[in-house]
Amino acid sequence: MNIPIQHHGAKDGVTGSCHQLHIDEYHSLLIDCGIFQGNEANEHNTQQLDINFDISSVKALIVTHVHIDHVGRIPWLLAAGFEGPIICSQPSAKLLPLVLEDAFKLSISRQKHLVEKYLKTIESRLVALPYKQWFTLKDTAENSTKIRLQRAGHILGSAYVEINVNKTRIVFSGDLGAPHTPLLPAPKPPYKADILVLESTYGDRNHENRATRKQRLKAAIDHALENQGTVLIPAFSIGRTQELLYEFEEILDGQLPVILDSPLASRFTQIYRELKPFWNEEAHERLKAGRKPLAFDNLLTVESHDDHLKMVHHLATSGRPAIVISGSGMCTAGRIVNYLKAMLGDERHDILFVGYQAEGTPGRIIQQYGPRNGYVELDGERYTIKAKVDTIGGYSGHADQNGLVRFVKGMRHKPNEIKLVHGSQKAKDSLKQALQKVVKSNIS
Ligand SMILES: [Zn+2]
Repeated sequence: MNIPIQHHGAKDGVTGSCHQLHIDEYHSLLIDCGIFQGNEANEHNTQQLDINFDISSVKALIVTHVHIDHVGRIPWLLAAGFEGPIICSQPSAKLLPLVLEDAFKLSISRQKHLVEKYLKTIESRLVALPYKQWFTLKDTAENSTKIRLQRAGHILGSAYVEINVNKTRIVFSGDLGAPHTPLLPAPKPPYKADILVLESTYGDRNHENRATRKQRLKAAIDHALENQGTVLIPAFSIGRTQELLYEFEEILDGQLPVILDSPLASRFTQIYRELKPFWNEEAHERLKAGRKPLAFDNLLTVESHDDHLKMVHHLATSGRPAIVISGSGMCTAGRIVNYLKAMLGDERHDILFVGYQAEGTPGRIIQQYGPRNGYVELDGERYTIKAKVDTIGGYSGHADQNGLVRFVKGMRHKPNEIKLVHGSQKAKDSLKQALQKVVKSNIS
């Protein structure tokens, strides 16, 4: 059976995920509907947010997880007239309204009644699926379409999607997590697929293991303690922030304050706490031992903008060591920018990157030129980088090459066709080579 898949994003890059599965002339499904970021956004320029394809056949949107590069175009999908359900996992259904509320306020309107009306629409469309259970979208003689979500271990609620169209099984990996991700169980390979659409973000490299990561996190903290400086961590509000808090609860043992300066990240952390049933076993062990992995005593949250400015000033001038987690993750906007402006020029501080920095973002520039004392432009002004710049891999929540190969190798019935998406050409080429050693699938 010929089932064409069109990619409306994240084909040659890693942002703007949006794939359309054409069942027949009148029926199709969308898998994710995200925005482009960094240089990829500039390349797509005006169509960055517009839905520039025909959606008349789209019967449902399936959301693999709630990162903005997978869901950020939903407001425009609705504006374009999409009337179908938004299908996602149960935890994603809790997280998604908050993500979309933020996206709506940033790009469309902050007017309360509009935001509320919009959120009502979203909630009325949400279909929360339990993991591991088939859900029938359509069941007629010519068209039987069923979907099932499986845990992807990338962020809470993340899923890979199995779709049965008549007798053909298509699997969309979404973003796959690494094993040993704090709070989350590792993804298990699917039983079978005829066609596999596989992400390849880290298709050309392997991560440090969790023990090494923790040691390096500790080293950055020791450096800050010695110099009476701040460890500044740009992090996305969902996923990485909570993983880091989980690690800090163990590593710090109360010796340093951890400042979560992002109201959005604080709200997500609150929902993460409510979603305890979806945490992994290790996290449940900590709970049983009476610990509070995401709500420990020396965790401070900064809410108002005034308090934020005070905190920046306090940490930049006082010489009281601390750890700050603030967004945005690639330093493109948000509160982290104020910290960077105040601290980049001071060698006592550490900027610690824990996630992927897309080409063209200030984060990538700091990461690249910081170690040579280069400069970065923020809001049109140059800032020389004297602070120490470090990168720790593995907290990015993506499987590495070994993990991706294991995902395919572990399948009982290997796919005839593997389509690599969500990665640079280099990452895809390298992953293709590695996969060719273990499967005979047609890889494109
Ligand atoms: Zn993601």
